[in-house]
Formats: sequence, C-alpha cells, structure tokens
Amino acid sequence: MKNILLILTGGTMGMEASSDGRVDSSQFVSEIFHYVPELRKIANIDVSSPYTMDSSDVGVQQWMMLGKLIDDSMDDYDGFVVIHGTDTMSYTACALSYMLFNLPKPVILTGSQRPLAAIRTDARANLIQALELATKDITEVSLFFDNKLYRGNRTKKVSIDEFDAFASPNFPCLAIVGLNIEQRTRHRRPTGLFRLEPRFDERVLALKCFPSFRPKYWESLLDTDVAVVVLEAFGAGNLPMFDGELVSLIERFTQAGKLVVINSQTVEGECDLTLYENGQKALDAGAISAKDMTFEATIVKAMFLLGLYNGNVKRVRHYFHASIAGEISDPGSQSFL
Ligand code: ASP
Repeated sequence: MKNILLILTGGTMGMEASSDGRVDSSQFVSEIFHYVPELRKIANIDVSSPYTMDSSDVGVQQWMMLGKLIDDSMDDYDGFVVIHGTDTMSYTACALSYMLFNLPKPVILTGSQRPLAAIRTDARANLIQALELATKDITEVSLFFDNKLYRGNRTKKVSIDEFDAFASPNFPCLAIVGLNIEQRTRHRRPTGLFRLEPRFDERVLALKCFPSFRPKYWESLLDTDVAVVVLEAFGAGNLPMFDGELVSLIERFTQAGKLVVINSQTVEGECDLTLYENGQKALDAGAISAKDMTFEATIVKAMFLLGLYNGNVKRVRHYFHASIAGEISDPGSQSFL
C-alpha cells in the first residue's frame, strides 16, 4: 500500500456538525477515522496539522509552512492530501504549485461545503476520492472537489452553497471521478530536480474597475511601496479612459517602478489588450495583460515572482507571462528558469 500524508489545515470539513465551532485537530483526526474508516483500506495514512484555521485567515506564512512540510516529507510519502477551507483553497493551490518546482508526487487539496460530522456531507466523498487519487501518479498540485480533479492554479471558488463549488474556467479538468477515473487532460511532469522556493513578497494590490469610479482615489498609491498593481478591468481587458486620466495614472505607476497587470472581471477567456483601443492605450502606457490566468493565479504569481527576484520589478515583468506551473495557456517565448 502507498504511504500518504494527510495534512489538516482547517475549514468547514473540521467544523462541528451543528454549530459554527471548530473541532480541535486531535478530535478531527479521530473523527476522520471514525466517519471514514475505509480510508485505511486505500493507503497507509499519517496525519499532520501545521495549523488549523478558517482559510480566510491563511496567507504567505501558512503557504510557506505547508511548502516546507511537504518538502521535508517528500522522501517519506508517495502523495499528499491537504484538507483546506474552500474560501482560499485556490490561492493556496497557486502558492504551492509555484513553490514546489518539479514536483515528483501528487499534492491534492480538498475540503467540503459541509462538516464531516454532518448528515448529507460532501466531506466523505471528497476525502475518499482525493486520497485514492493521491496514490496515483499525478505529479502536480491539484484540487479535488465534487468528483472533479482540477489543476489547482486554474481554479476558483464559484459557489457559496453548491457542492459543485469550484470551476476551472480556462483549463479542462485533469480527471472526472465516476464509476471509473476518467483522465481528461495530461498532467504535468517534472523536468528536473525537485526543490522548494518558499519566497513571497506581499507588496501587491488589486483594484477593481467599475463604471464611473474615480482614478484620482488611486493616486495616493504612488507614495506607497506597492510594487505590483493588478487592475481588474472589463471584458478583454478594457479600462474606462476618463479623458486619459487612468492611462496617465498607469504611466505614472510605471515610471515610479511599479508593474501594472490587467486582469478581467470576466472569468472565462483571455485578456487581450490589443483587441480594443481602450486596452491598447493601457498597454502603451506600460501595463501588461494577465492573459488567461485567474485572478488568484495572477495575485499569487505577482507575490511569488517579487519574492523570487528580491523585489526586482523588471524581472517580475519579464517573467510574468512565463508558465511556472501551467497557470497560463500561452506562455509565449518566455521560459521560466
Ligand atoms: N470559511 C471556510 C474556510 O474557507 C469555508 C469552507 O471551508 O468551506 O475556511
């Protein structure tokens, strides 16, 4: 039997069935084997819990702790399942996928919409299937939810109350689990030696455009140490022009050594700044597009590249369209490291 490390980090799965209290991690471990004893038939399982919290409190520190735990345990296990809150699971999946270079074993994040102890829970099925998938040769950071295995850095949480809570708008599922495990697309393969790069720099900010917003409210950012600004634009990456006010702000951000990345509020499709005049003007002013990366992948990539290149914004710009872990469809000619 394969050896799997089950990593508990919190979220709804470990909540009490009838209140919003969290069961402590040792109680959660016994609950897991009480409610899902068949897990022991799938693999030899060890459990580790570096922290337990609502995932809305998770950030860079927790990402790095997880990365380190997986790195330290790589030789001892055949695969890893991370139980995580759904709210920021996609961000953690991005962070792990960037940090764990040339991952040789499966790392699968999962969680649930209802606690494990609740009647009619989705936790049991998610846990059993994620664990089974972790015994297979799927060498990338993936996210399992409601019978679907996704590339983790392509996902986003799309539903607060459906069991089918995640989507991968610009990339097919890796596999669908039904009677059989149906592989839908090829997973990633390591091309070199495995290594961990636990480096993030949080000087990143996201701003959302909406009709009639006032760009002058953003001017004060020029005086801050923010290094990357992600602008959530409309459609293919179009920004409202306001007689050139926003374009001149992008120019000033760029001149101040900051990088402006334009992402779209529309979830499906690729941000192409050359399609319309309003996008082209932003491009001319120094912005770059996030192409078809999710918002989550874009934000975490900005933090990761800034960390990796010690805050060197020019290098962050240079590598932004390179694929670190399959988070972008068309990486152009830039290859990463
Ligand atoms: N607030 C919870 C969390 O993300 C929600 C969940 O797990 O579904 O930690």
